Formats: sequence, structure tokens, C-alpha cells
Amino acid sequence: MRYAIISDIHGNYEALTAVLDVIDEMDVDGIVCLGDVVGYGANPNEVVELVRSRADVTVRGNHDQAAVVPAEEAYFNSWAVQAIRWTRDELTEDNLDYLRSLMYESFLADVRLVHASPGEPEKWRYILSPQAAAQEFSTFDESFCFIGHSHVPMIVLRTEVGTSELLEGEVALPAGARVLMNVGSVGQPRNGDPRACFAVLDLEERSARLVPVAYDLHTARTKILQAGLPRFLGDRLLLGQ
Ligand code: ZN
Repeated sequence: MRYAIISDIHGNYEALTAVLDVIDEMDVDGIVCLGDVVGYGANPNEVVELVRSRADVTVRGNHDQAAVVPAEEAYFNSWAVQAIRWTRDELTEDNLDYLRSLMYESFLADVRLVHASPGEPEKWRYILSPQAAAQEFSTFDESFCFIGHSHVPMIVLRTEVGTSELLEGEVALPAGARVLMNVGSVGQPRNGDPRACFAVLDLEERSARLVPVAYDLHTARTKILQAGLPRFLGDRLLLGQ
């Protein structure tokens, strides 16, 4: 079985459709979404509806939660607060109900799926370093754990000799090894590469890799400005920061 794993789309329709076009060229058996479907971008309804129709599994992100639980704004910076209030007003009742229905974690065979951290998915902790990732391995039993949340791709391998970060953008698990992998962000990358990013998992090969995808970020940025959202949220798409 092969799966495409997408995360942190953040209402960016141009990025999501470009990624789905690439996925459709691949021979995958399913699509998994790790949350933050909305927030920041200008097409929350269109993106929710595409995810609803295309993803086999979707877990809850902190922006999805804030769209339906306003008290969660307390943890957001001012740009994120402005964007999530605008998003909440835009979303249809049906799409809000869908976001309410999302769970904090999900599973495939030998795979853990969560937005932020496998240990405490409801606390939205960031795993920003290989050292922080190393501490998470005691919180899950599966061979693969996929996360999003930081918008920065990261692959950390755990073998019997220790834990190490892999910088090649792909991993093939040796026997007995496990991996924690951040799949990056479809709709608001922050790793200095403005391309959308997602991952492909091959359960037979026990391998996974990151796939960057160029998309029409200028249209996505223009829509953010036209919606009256903070200019910074549009400009950062150009930089991937
Ligand atoms: Zn996010």
C-alpha cells in the first residue's frame, strides 16, 4: 500500500490543487491529511471540501480546532488570530461541523498519524529538533509516525545504535528501525523553500520520501491581500518562511 501524506494546507487552494495533481500521477492507494486544513489562506471552504472528498483520513490541527473553539485563539499570534476569525466567518456550517468531527490522531497499519506530537497530540507541542524528536519515540509503538505543525520537513531515524536526522528527504527503514517524519506544509512552507511539500509512504518497501511541488503562489498571495488578510501572510508564501 502507498499513501500520500499531506499537512498544513491552511486554506491555500492553489497549493492543494497542485499537490493533488502530482498525487494523481502517482499510483497511491490513499491520501492522509495531518490537519491545519484552514487558517491563513483565502479559500477555507474550497480547501475543506477538497480534503473531505479526497482524503481517506484527516486528523485535527490546532487551526482547525481554533476555527470551531474561539478560546483557542489565546495561543495564537496576532496574524493567526486575524486569519482564524476571518476563516470562522467564511466557513459554512457544514464545513465547521466537519472540522468539529476531526480526531487528534489516527492509525494505519504500523503507522501513527498526528498533527503535532504523538505523546500529547491535544497540547500542540512543537517538535523542532532531532533531539526533541528523539524523546518522542517512547510515546508511540509503530514503525512510522508522521507529523506536521512546524511547517518544516524533518526525518529522524531511530535504530538500535541511536537516533539521527536524515537530510536526504527520504528514508528506507532497516529491520527493527523506526522513524518520526514531519511531512512539511502544503500551504505555508517555512523551511526557506516556497514550494508545497508532502510525503509518500510505501508500506511494502517500508520507505517514505518528501515531494516538493511548485505551485501558483502569486495567485494564492493575491487572494490573501484581496480578502483583507494581513499582508505578511501573503508575502511569506513568496519566501517559504
Ligand atoms: Zn499549521
